[in-house]
Amino acid sequence: MVVTCGACWPRDRLYLQSLVDDPWCRRCLKKGKRFEETAEHMHWGCEENRTLPAVVASKGLEDRAKRNIRAGHSQVLRLRGILPSEWSKVMPAPADPEHTAAGPFADGRSGS
Ligand SMILES: [Zn+2]
Repeated sequence: MVVTCGACWPRDRLYLQSLVDDPWCRRCLKKGKRFEETAEHMHWGCEENRTLPAVVASKGLEDRAKRNIRAGHSQVLRLRGILPSEWSKVMPAPADPEHTAAGPFADGRSGS
């Protein structure tokens, strides 16, 4: 069994659920700019991302990602970080019980 979920909560989603008072990107707000923090802004549009070395190193991905999002392609990947099923391979469960965990820790402890 494989479970994936969109665990990103940009402020526009939080705002729609009345969990924050406004949808504005905090990083932009500190620079005196007001942009709604959507998933696209958070991952691909925020100018403050350009101060992060990993983002600078992946500059070639930004234009393609924005084009795909606007065309309605790969949104689950580009905005939620979820791989399309055809891109992922689910390995069978190991037969060796040494590699099986019954709790949240690899050694089987429950953490309680
Ligand atoms: Zn921003």
